[in-house]
Amino acid sequence: DTPIRIGIVGYGNLGRGVERSVGLNPDMQLVGVFTRRDPASVTTVSSDVSVRAVDDLEAMRADIDVLVLCGGSKSDLPEQSPAMASAFTIVDSFDTHARIPEHFAAVDAAARAAGTTAIISTGWDPGLFSLQRLYGEAILPQGETYTFWGRGLSQGHSDAVRRVPGVAAGVQYTIPSENAIAQVRAGDLPELSTREKHTRECFVVLDEGADADAVREAIVTMPDYFEPYDTTVQFISAEELARDHAGVPHGGFVIRSGTTSANTEQTVEFRLALESNPEFTASVLVAYARAAARLAASGDHGAKTPFDVAPGLLSPKSPAQLRADLL
Ligand code: NDP
Repeated sequence: DTPIRIGIVGYGNLGRGVERSVGLNPDMQLVGVFTRRDPASVTTVSSDVSVRAVDDLEAMRADIDVLVLCGGSKSDLPEQSPAMASAFTIVDSFDTHARIPEHFAAVDAAARAAGTTAIISTGWDPGLFSLQRLYGEAILPQGETYTFWGRGLSQGHSDAVRRVPGVAAGVQYTIPSENAIAQVRAGDLPELSTREKHTRECFVVLDEGADADAVREAIVTMPDYFEPYDTTVQFISAEELARDHAGVPHGGFVIRSGTTSANTEQTVEFRLALESNPEFTASVLVAYARAAARLAASGDHGAKTPFDVAPGLLSPKSPAQLRADLL
């Protein structure tokens, strides 16, 4: 069997994770990393990976089966996904939920015109969590679905903390409420407010001479980001930040709670506990890259989401092997 030839577009946290994940999958081969920066300035995890300019991709259509797009959802993927899908089969992890319909339409048009396959919004949310929400609703039509995130580092909220005057550095964790989860697990079908579902915890290094009370007040009252939540702020040293908060943990729960007849409660729960959000997200992207290669080879073109991809296509095992081993 010839390996699936993978190219990585964009080399940040996710790109590094994809490099590692491809190394764990013997049916895949990494052709190289493609960056918008000067390739000489990019250092890969493994020293034998070639780094090239994205402009070199045009000449490499015959050398790559799937491009794994690792750019940011805010401004990279809305441009890169349709552009790359017009020449390559791609996967991305586009996670701006409200914009997924328009992203799908743009990528679908490009992929159909070019005869490529593009699986968008893989990862865990959107991605694996979306699948769990779908299974829950389809199987238990009478019920409620709850998604809790965390304990996890939120990039957007950490950035917001760092923009507060007087803050030298800091991180923010989103924490699901134990009490809310317990109510959901008990089948109470609670109506939960934003404040009841999650709390936010900030660890902040102050600028020299900054007023701790003023910084705390500015954070906890910040509209949209922190005001709707119970937020705690702890002040720590730069050394403590580096020692205790360098990781990128995340995860959460999707719980569907429903009834199938009077007083017959059914609960379905899916949990992720991740020490590295980008390395896990990258691992999901790589499994979907395998599916994308197979769909493209079978002539099934256009944009897809995880809802459209049969689960067996994610596995390196054949359908017969899967029936024997896992069914
Ligand atoms: P990064 O900011 O680390 O990387 C994004 C892009 O920025 C890279 O592709 C790279 O492009 C560029 N870049 C990286 N490092 C540098 C640098 N030092 N200087 C200049 N440019 C740099 O983002 P992440 O990899 O952490 O995340 C990417 C996206 O993944 C997120 O925006 C998020 O939307 C998505 N995501 C989705 C999840 C899901 O469950 N669906 C979960 C987690 C993340 P280039 O090499 O071309 O310069």
